[in-house]
Parts: sequence; structure tokens; C-alpha cells
Amino acid sequence: MAEDYYGVLGVKKNASQDEIKRAYRELALKFHPDRNKDPGAENKFKEINEAYAVLSDPEKRQTYDAYGSEGFHQRYSEEDIFRGFNIDEVLRQMGFDFNFGGDMFSSMFGFGQGTRNADMGSDLLTRVNVTLEEAAHGTEKTVLAHHIKICDRCNGSGAEKGSKIAKCEKCAGSGQVRVTRRTPFGIVQTISTCPSCNGEGKIAEKACSKCHGRGKVEGQDKIELKIPKGIDNGTRLRVRGMGDFGAGRAGDLYVDVSVSESKLFKRRGDDLYIDLHVPFYTAALGGSISVKTLDGEERVRIEPGTQTGDTIAIKGKGMPRMGTNSTGNEIVRIVVDTPKYMTKEQKELVEKFKDTEAGEKRGRKGVFFGVF
Ligand SMILES: [Zn+2]
Ligand SMILES: [Zn+2]
Repeated sequence: MAEDYYGVLGVKKNASQDEIKRAYRELALKFHPDRNKDPGAENKFKEINEAYAVLSDPEKRQTYDAYGSEGFHQRYSEEDIFRGFNIDEVLRQMGFDFNFGGDMFSSMFGFGQGTRNADMGSDLLTRVNVTLEEAAHGTEKTVLAHHIKICDRCNGSGAEKGSKIAKCEKCAGSGQVRVTRRTPFGIVQTISTCPSCNGEGKIAEKACSKCHGRGKVEGQDKIELKIPKGIDNGTRLRVRGMGDFGAGRAGDLYVDVSVSESKLFKRRGDDLYIDLHVPFYTAALGGSISVKTLDGEERVRIEPGTQTGDTIAIKGKGMPRMGTNSTGNEIVRIVVDTPKYMTKEQKELVEKFKDTEAGEKRGRKGVFFGVF
């Protein structure tokens, strides 16, 4: 699949919808398979349409801009990209009138309205947990796919080795049977999938001993799933073809990634928030203190006169932004600690401080308390 949609359409990243539309129109005209018989034209036409399907849709474009190609494809499957996008309709609205025969879209892209049938394997959903640290650095997780697989004994044919495959007698090869039922409302006839051949229309003379002619078996696969760095809680990743096996299309396995909460950090987007407790004297006099980061520790400077709630940003110590090279910040929120217990000597010192403070207040009115 095309990586750089802007490049495919030959427009700038800040191109307006009009510019994108114009560029698409021109390229679609040039590479349309009805007009261009070059061997590469059809592929090029597909690329152009995919790029346009994304960039003409504000939401998809925003996601693509924000997360880059890799991040985008983790969020949108090919079917998602083309959902609600009908090439014939789009081109007709632009004033073209090719006769596509109606199914160019599905034949070109392998899916479309009405192409999904009983042979399509189901998509499956599973879940995986990662820690915030794993999410920050990226990791690999083993995911188990419990799914229907192609039978490895008969390679999906359902026939025992050496056995011939013949037309199903029950449905005469149509894959469907009529079922007549007597109901209180009279005799009702329904058409359903042939139970002998499972709708295939053909059947092995001798069924495969492993899958009993189904061509598929239940099984389990271990998948090493790459978790991209910067992944957010609730992101759904897709493993192509790891859903249930189907003759028309193997389903996909979707993996919902949950990022567990950290004891230290609160995540907001790409930024990480942490509370840093500072003794009241350091807050008053200034100094430097160590604070935990994802990679270890970092010393931050405490300015004299620091208050609870003041924040210090440590640039580039937040979460990486998925699919990009940018990284968020760590935001250190200061909490000034007041001592709960003091020795006699400490109390005397604070009392002394209090006395000087009263003097200050009289002498330089407004400096300490008047600014609020
Ligand atoms: Zn049959
Ligand atoms: Zn088999």
C-alpha cells in the first residue's frame, strides 16, 4: 500500500480540499484502467484512489497527519479506508462517466458491497496488556490466536489424499438446498446452505480424516505482536489473516491493547505528569532535586519561592508519539511539604522566621502578602 498519500497525489501537506480534488481528478483521468492500458496503470489507479479516500475525508486525513502511515494503518483497515467511498460515484460527481460494469471496485480491491459471503472467515478479537514503560519503549507480546485454520492434511480441500472431488449430489452442485417445512401458517419453503458440502457445491469422495471434509480445523497459533512505541490505551491493532480461515478471505485478528496505569505517572496524550514533593525550605530557598523519569532520574532546578502546583517541564521525557519521531514532555508538578513534626530547635527557628516576617511586612508593605 502507498505510504505517502500526499506524494501519490503530488500535493503539499497543507493542500486545500480543492487542490486535492483537482490533483485526484487529473490523475484518475490519466491512470483509469479504461483509458490507460499500461501494465502499471491499474496499481497506480488503486494508489490514487486510496490516497484520495483518505485525504478527502477530514477525519481520516487528520489521523493520517497525526500518526503517520504506520499509525494510520493500525487504526484503519483497507475496508475502513474505502467505507463510504465509491469510486464510480466520486468520478461521476466529477463529471466522468465511465462504464465500469458495476463491479470494478470490488474486483479491483477485493471487497465491496455484496462480496462478503458464507466462505469469509470471521474476524476475531483478543486483548493484550502492556505497562506504561513497555508502551513508551515499544515491545513485543505473544498473543494466542484460537482460530479456525486451514487443514494442513488436505490443504483445505477436505479430501483425503488420492480421493477425487466430485459434484455434491445432495444439492447438485448448487451449494444450496430447499427445505420445506410445515408450519401453522402452511407449508414454508426456505433455501439454505447445503449441509453436505457446506455450500461448496462439491464434495470429496473420501473425506479428509483430520478435518472430516470441512477443510478447516480449530487450532491455536502463537503470534509475536509488535507493540509500537507510544501506543495509547485502547488502541486496536490488526493482524492480517489471523482470524478464522475462510475460502473467500481469511479473517483478521484484532488485538485491543490496554496500557496499564502507572503508579508514578499520569498520562495525558503524549505528556506524563508526576508529583514531586519538595521540602518547604527548598521551595523557599531554591535548590535541585531528583525526579523519576521513564528512563531513570533527572535533576530539576527548584527556583526560590516555588509554590505547590508550580510545574516544571522536562522536554522530551514524555511518551513518544506513535508513528512519529516526536516525544511529549514530562510535567513535574511541585507539592511543597510542610513538616508535620518539628523538634524544639526547629520550632524556634520557624518562630524566629515568623518574627522577621512580621518586621518585613511592616517595613516593606505589600511585598509578601499584598500581591494577591
Ligand atoms: Zn451440496
Ligand atoms: Zn482436512
